Amino acid sequence: AQAPKYLTGDPSAINAFVDQFDVFLIDCDGVLWSGDHLFDGVAETLGLLRSKGKRTVFVTNNSTKSRPEYLKKFAKLGIPADVEDIFGSAYSAAIYISRILKLPPSKNKVFVLGEAGIENELRTENIPFIGGTDSNYRRDMTPEDWQGIADGSLLDPDVGCVLAGLDFHVNYLKLSHAHQYLRRGAVFLATNLDPTFPMNHNFFPGAGSIVIPLSNMAGEKPLALGKPSQAMMDAIEGKFKLNRARTCMIGDRLDTDIKFGIEGQLGGTLAVLSGVSKKADWEAEGAAAVPAFYVDQLGDLRGGGTG
Ligand code: PLP
Ligand code: CA
Repeated sequence: AQAPKYLTGDPSAINAFVDQFDVFLIDCDGVLWSGDHLFDGVAETLGLLRSKGKRTVFVTNNSTKSRPEYLKKFAKLGIPADVEDIFGSAYSAAIYISRILKLPPSKNKVFVLGEAGIENELRTENIPFIGGTDSNYRRDMTPEDWQGIADGSLLDPDVGCVLAGLDFHVNYLKLSHAHQYLRRGAVFLATNLDPTFPMNHNFFPGAGSIVIPLSNMAGEKPLALGKPSQAMMDAIEGKFKLNRARTCMIGDRLDTDIKFGIEGQLGGTLAVLSGVSKKADWEAEGAAAVPAFYVDQLGDLRGGGTG
């Protein structure tokens, strides 16, 4: 791939870059903020893009929050946004289930390995589910569990799908239920497969680290609904009527965001250096993906002015 073009401090290059696109798909953590710290110039940059008639869509792999919960975070940090501008991996999974998978009525329940963000998005799409944050699943196995899971008497016959994401209370009981539903033919979905996520200047186990053990026991890989899966791109395209050639993906991770944009054949990809991936990562042999453009941080796009 060609070396990415550096835009920071180059107003004419920034203007030419912005003019190429109508829609910007913008990753959240590492681009807009890090944890609860909003990066400099983010609100101004988004305002500038919108004043030029650009659509900004926020695309995040974090499945622990639903879109309304995300909206609260935007409001708290002072970024104007609409719930319809937000596209998270939990939402992506919920609309995949309701609009594409279309489970038969006798198999329409979802077994959830994950947090409230997933449950809330499923509820909004009227998808019945079990598991998730239910305290009946947050405990040790009893002899009755060992027996009832084995003979099926403790399983819900209506479960036709297992949806796994980041679960802060993963345990053997939940894994046993999920495994058994998969053995019985449930469709296997994951919100996202990030091995880790950044937190407090370090990394913690991500959704992928919860999902992979399940793949291992089931002998089957899930369909992931987060970046870089093209199932998510198709869902975004369906919702926003994207012209891919006039769309740019902005993100901090080569293996999720930039790969997502390239595989989706978007018109452009922009890497920001305020998050996980660094210049050396795309310069390295066997890089996950190479962006077309890069800036030090999103706020550098302000340098383009309003022309
Ligand atoms: N998953 C979790 C649980 C997270 O907390 C984060 C970021 O904070 C991510 C995934 C990555 O999110 P994004 O796609 O917005 O970078
Ligand atoms: Ca990110």
